Amino acid sequence: MPTALSFPSSARLSGLNSDSQSSHITSSVSAMAANTEQTFIAIKPDGVQRGLVGEIIKRFEQKGFKMSGMKFLQASEDMLKQHYIDLKDRPFYPGLVKYMGSGPVVAMAWEGLNVVKTGRVMLGETNPADSKPGTIRGDYCVEVGRNIIHGSDSVESAKKEIKLWFKPEELVSYKSCAKDWIYE
Ligand code: UDP
Ligand code: MG
Repeated sequence: MPTALSFPSSARLSGLNSDSQSSHITSSVSAMAANTEQTFIAIKPDGVQRGLVGEIIKRFEQKGFKMSGMKFLQASEDMLKQHYIDLKDRPFYPGLVKYMGSGPVVAMAWEGLNVVKTGRVMLGETNPADSKPGTIRGDYCVEVGRNIIHGSDSVESAKKEIKLWFKPEELVSYKSCAKDWIYE
């Protein structure tokens, strides 16, 4: 098995000169760093109650993203207020916090190349009415206040959200056996 820092086989076999070989190595190393981007995804209480947990996890697995953490919990009001702190002045904030605390949620960290942005595309728009069929919100829900899933909107928010929802020891670092079939 290739180690994390081994040359791609194309570089090993092609007799590239040392300059192009080193730029190949540099780009492989930066690609590896990009592959470890993480996002926070949560299946909201309506997604859990409606039996959509398996379907949602399946989409992230089948896409080729790697799960780094998952837990099933009913979140406290304090935690949810913190999670949505940027929306605290919006009129829907109290109802949002109540809805998110009304039952259990599935909190997950997923890892992969551009997982934050691609995760948002997989979710669809905030309002399910604007979400295309084929997206999670486009396929499984109707109203903005019952839109079944959360996904971080930037790498910075993902870092904050993962820190809020997971202790460091609850995140697992491992190599997926499919990695070399998903990334060049
Ligand atoms: N929300 C709502 N009414 C609105 C806008 C948002 O109830 O008019 C809820 C909805 O559940 C949404 C969450 O607030 O997912 C967070 O809003 P945000 O704008 O961050 O959307 P998201 O990032 O979830 O797409
Ligand atoms: Mg948001």
